[in-house]
Amino acid sequence: MLTTTIAGSLPKPAWLAKPNVLWAPWNLTGAALAEGKRDAVRLALADQEAAGIDIVTDGEQSRQHFVHGFLEAIDGVDFAKRVTIGIRADRYKAEVPTVTGPLVRRRSVHADEVRFARAHTAQRLKFTIPGPMTIVDTLADEHYRDRRRLAMEFARVINAEARELVALGLDVLQLDEPAFNVYMDDVRTWGIDALHRAIEGLTCKTAVHICYGYGIKANVDWKATLGGEWRQYEQTFPALAASRIDQVSVECANSRVPVSLLGLLRGKDVLVGVIDVATDAIETPAQVAATIRSVLPFVPPERLYPCTNCGMVPLERDVARGKLRALAAGAALVRAELGVRA
Ligand code: ZN
Repeated sequence: MLTTTIAGSLPKPAWLAKPNVLWAPWNLTGAALAEGKRDAVRLALADQEAAGIDIVTDGEQSRQHFVHGFLEAIDGVDFAKRVTIGIRADRYKAEVPTVTGPLVRRRSVHADEVRFARAHTAQRLKFTIPGPMTIVDTLADEHYRDRRRLAMEFARVINAEARELVALGLDVLQLDEPAFNVYMDDVRTWGIDALHRAIEGLTCKTAVHICYGYGIKANVDWKATLGGEWRQYEQTFPALAASRIDQVSVECANSRVPVSLLGLLRGKDVLVGVIDVATDAIETPAQVAATIRSVLPFVPPERLYPCTNCGMVPLERDVARGKLRALAAGAALVRAELGVRA
């Protein structure tokens, strides 16, 4: 009970990529880069294990960005044709590739990474892939010219990839859908359908991470406009509760999401963000425990998975390690109070 996990990413070592930035350029090339990525995955796994995290990830050490890393092996996505567009309803600008033809997965994108991570940890393993709606929102499209259709095409590609990854020994396959907080009508009309297509036939647990984004300035400014209570989830949770997704990951540390809304996710595992990724301040175990306790009236302990709010990639490594330790220690405090084991 109170099984701990993380949203996905961890900061990369400075010898691998420029620290503290998203879309950080690699500091290595060729075979040295491939080896550097693998070494970084071993460190990411070791840091999580040393902290006592129950369900670990590869820290997303092998990809430059959580969306574009997946697209690099997909035909039909032209990285030479990059354009700058406003994404997440124009909250910030990003340079994105363009869809110029039918989507074809040339080869597995992440199989080598999952195989490597699986071979280097005995813990339960989770792997993250961007969700269809978030991919569609992080691209320009000159071919399909229809967001719903493009999302279903990506869902087909994701599903083929996911089936391959699950067969390599994944315990949890997570789809990252920060766009679910931006296009609430689309979530209901086609977002959930696209998720279902993406997880079709998977034999492991499936999760979706929805969130208010990393602690970058554009997101912090946006959050300031959302008012005293963040009730966006009130629209998405009932749709997710009725879906075939097993787990939902949301941010709860220092967020203005009313915890009572988590009651709308009855029947789902809830990955409760108890670690704020928008600050360098390391939570104390007591703070983590307090956040967990605040959620217990709405999510039973066997369904409550203490987690980070979002990816930790923009943080300093020692800060991220401190937060991992606080996450595990805070969960252990509440477990002891409840007289239960992990
Ligand atoms: Zn997130």
